[in-house]
Amino acid sequence: MSGSADLESLSRMLAGADRVVAFTGAGISTESGIPDFRSPGGIWTRYDPRDFIFDRYVAEPEVRANSWAMRRAFFAANARPNAAHRALARLEAVGPLATIITQNIDGLHQEAGSQHVIEIHGTAREVACIGVHPVGGAPDGCGFVAPHTWAFEQLDAGVDDPGCPDCGGLVKSATISFGQQMPLDAVRRAQAEVAACDLLLVVGSSLQVYPAAALPGEARRYGAQVVIVNDEPTDLDDLAHLVVRGRAGEVLAAAVAGIDSDAPG
Ligand SMILES: [Zn+2]
Repeated sequence: MSGSADLESLSRMLAGADRVVAFTGAGISTESGIPDFRSPGGIWTRYDPRDFIFDRYVAEPEVRANSWAMRRAFFAANARPNAAHRALARLEAVGPLATIITQNIDGLHQEAGSQHVIEIHGTAREVACIGVHPVGGAPDGCGFVAPHTWAFEQLDAGVDDPGCPDCGGLVKSATISFGQQMPLDAVRRAQAEVAACDLLLVVGSSLQVYPAAALPGEARRYGAQVVIVNDEPTDLDDLAHLVVRGRAGEVLAAAVAGIDSDAPG
């Protein structure tokens, strides 16, 4: 873990900021037992990545069955928020944190108590109608949305391929698959938040995929400070005003505790 000087710098920058936006990736949830998709033992070693391509999900019942099996395994692991999620929820409660933009689909920020969360890759905690035969990676659903448990109940009741009760279309986890269009509304809101912040706090993202990779540069262009907290180097460390190397839970808990103790009243 980084030295205490880095932690003090981080704590000071957070306390001095008017509007912090956090951007979080898989690294913030590994301490909750959710493996990074790219890591050894990660999900790709147990499931076929081709099953997560949108057009295949639409075309093949077997792909949909595998996808539901994967979702069951995901929730059976019963991941809970960790110290990093709790520290960001606390940072929102005490003031400076305006919004969390996350690449994660696990819903752990909300479970930790965060109120303002933009999920640019969707959420595994809901399922949604994607229409009878969506083309071009674009969901074309009727608007039906339900908790993920709705699909599990259907499967438990012997329905092999749960369909939309409203229009008969396909139902899919409300996550963004490979080959599926990004949710434009969420991405636009994320970009607007980055443009309006004075400190972008990147946690647990390798910053290798777009739009994530573009956010630190955009934050700087709008005059914000950039801090990267990650347990290994990222491609964009040179862009950051401060890089704190370490486990997200330890770093954020320590940095936010420093703010708490300074808070008035
Ligand atoms: Zn429908």
